[in-house]
Formats: sequence, C-alpha cells, structure tokens
Amino acid sequence: MTASPAEAYCRTGMTKWNSTANAKTIGANTTFPSGLRSGLSGGLAQWNRSGSALRYNAPVYTSGWQIYAWRASYSYTSLMGSAPGYAAAQRSGSTHSGGTLYLSNRFTWVNGSQDINAGKADVQTVAVHEIGHFTGLAHPWSPHCTDGTAYTDAEKKSVMTAINTGTRRSLNSDDIAGVTAIY
Ligand SMILES: [Zn+2]
Repeated sequence: MTASPAEAYCRTGMTKWNSTANAKTIGANTTFPSGLRSGLSGGLAQWNRSGSALRYNAPVYTSGWQIYAWRASYSYTSLMGSAPGYAAAQRSGSTHSGGTLYLSNRFTWVNGSQDINAGKADVQTVAVHEIGHFTGLAHPWSPHCTDGTAYTDAEKKSVMTAINTGTRRSLNSDDIAGVTAIY
C-alpha cells in the first residue's frame, strides 16, 4: 500500500524496547484459545516486514509462561475500558523490557472480518495494532498525538489508527516508516 507522506506516524508518550540484541518472544499460557493463535502470530510477523533491527519470534505456548517477561493474555482488565485489546508495557524511563498484551474475553474473536461496533474482533487486526504500541508507536492523530502533523491519509490507513473499526491486518508505509525510525 502506498500512502503519503510516510513520516507522519506518532510516537508521543510511547516507550521503545530496551534492546534489539535478541528477537522478542511472547509467552502465553496453554489456555490461550487455539483459534486465536494464528492471528497472534500473524500480528507479530507483520512487524518483521519493515527491515528494522527489531524482530518478533512466533509465540511460545507453555504452562510455564510466567518465565516470559512479555506475555499474551486472553482476559479482561479494567485498563481496557471497552477496547478489544490493550498493551501494558513495563516501563523504565524511555524504554520497556516487557509487558502484557491483553485480548479482551468480552469480544467474540474471529479470524476474519472485524466489526468492533458489533462486538466482533479479528485477532490479527487487534494484535498488529497492540504490538505496534509495544514497538513504540502511538495513535496518529490529535489529541492523542501532539507531533503537530495533520491526520494524513497515510495515518488514516495505518494499523495504528484507532478510528478504524474494520479489518486491517497489514502494515502500511506509515507503520513501516515508524518502526524503521525507532530501531
Ligand atoms: Zn491503540
């Protein structure tokens, strides 16, 4: 997808990973629904397309998932409000070392067309957005973003916009410009 300008991504208020020395591995309990796993893997893999130094491994499912600093959870926390997903990073200054990705168990999850207003969430669409937050990108429009740019066409088509309620599984040029600027 071509979108222009591709430099209008937003990082306001976000932290980045503290190191890119190793690929990031997210751990999930074996109770994580099997029907959601391909979408989680797909959302992670999207961020490996950018050519940046940041890499995400496929998730590891184990009953010993607590050993992982970075976790995926199919559960609800009040921090989520009415959102289908939430990225809770373990911050230290301007970086983070891990965190928890929440996929809300209050939604009906599908590997297909998403309709948030109808309570139907696509795993990859939500995962790619939330992992974008772990990557260091914010929602690209005012007032969430105070970088002074307009809400551009590239931003509107990025996975990081939260206005979108439909299915959006793939990074666009704006998302890629954002991650390559950070790592
Ligand atoms: Zn978001």
